[in-house]
Amino acid sequence: MKPEFKLNDEVIMKKPHACQTNLWVITRVGADIKLKCKNCGHEIMMDRLEFYKKIKKVINNEEKNN
Ligand SMILES: [Zn+2]
Repeated sequence: MKPEFKLNDEVIMKKPHACQTNLWVITRVGADIKLKCKNCGHEIMMDRLEFYKKIKKVINNEEKNN
């Protein structure tokens, strides 16, 4: 099953970043997905297939605000 996600959603990755945070925000959605580390601001790009494999959970902004 492919997770639903959109721009500015936060995602939790399976493996933490080098800065020990595993919370990222989606800053670009296209053929590739761009993610920004919430802690250190580091940005990475990956294709959708890799993204699906690496994420643990998508935190939708609507859910968080309600
Ligand atoms: Zn980081």
